[in-house]
Amino acid sequence: MAEFRGAVALVTGAASGIGRAIALAFAREGAALVLADLDETGGAAVAAEIAAGGGEALFVACDVAEPPDADRLMEAALRRHGKVQHACNNAGITTLADSWDEAVMLRLVSVNLNGVLFGMKRQILHMRASGGGTIVNTASIAGLSAAGTVEYCASKHGVVGLTRSAGVRYAREGVRINAVCPGVIDTPMTEALIGNEMVRPLMEQMVPLGRFGQPEDVAEAVLFLSSPRSSFIVGHALPVDGGYMAR
Ligand code: NAP
Repeated sequence: MAEFRGAVALVTGAASGIGRAIALAFAREGAALVLADLDETGGAAVAAEIAAGGGEALFVACDVAEPPDADRLMEAALRRHGKVQHACNNAGITTLADSWDEAVMLRLVSVNLNGVLFGMKRQILHMRASGGGTIVNTASIAGLSAAGTVEYCASKHGVVGLTRSAGVRYAREGVRINAVCPGVIDTPMTEALIGNEMVRPLMEQMVPLGRFGQPEDVAEAVLFLSSPRSSFIVGHALPVDGGYMAR
């Protein structure tokens, strides 16, 4: 198929879980990748995996919550490729219980919400000036419901809000912005929950499909929202959750 041949896709949180699956799916479809993550070892491994499969990937170690890092990431992408047509703001962290620790809450909101905002600012400025593009943010069912801890839920509602707002505002400038809202996906982030024999069956019961998602389930939705196949979809927050939000 190679639906994205000749295109450049930037993915944050690409060293692990959902971000890694998004990066591999774009590479499978012919895109050149710019990968960003805090985890240098994991990021370099995903870049090597893509290269071993005949693809092209540049890994940039960065903290999406830091504006100078966001600048460095965009500059590295443009230096290598001169353009970025598809961006996925996916890096995120969570808490297992409401922390009410202000340092923890601040860090979570900084990564999950500010990180997306800082990335989008640079991506929109570039895409507006270079013929357009798509942005897909990774929100969560916690962006559409009361799932998750209070700080996680607040941060993901923020991601859905800024996806809607920026989606509407920049649609006519050629930048099409949407979000995916994963349910429980089997990644290192959910290891503690899914690996808990007591919790696992209770959580599985809450999913109409009766199973947790795989990172690839989310990646395919991201590729759809990044492709012309979804050209009339704007500012949408798409649940990828085995039916959880439809209950
Ligand atoms: P994951 O396996 O933990 O991967 C997240 C990656 O993001 C990790 O490599 C992590 O690096 C990196 N990262 C964290 N903070 C960063 C920062 N400030 N700057 C750059 N990279 C950073 O988690 P995942 O499950 O794939 O989650 C990906 C996204 O999906 C997140 O936004 C998450 O909130 C969302 N999501 C996940 C689920 C789920 O059930 N898994 C459900 C709904 C939404 P380190 O390992 O070094 O921290």
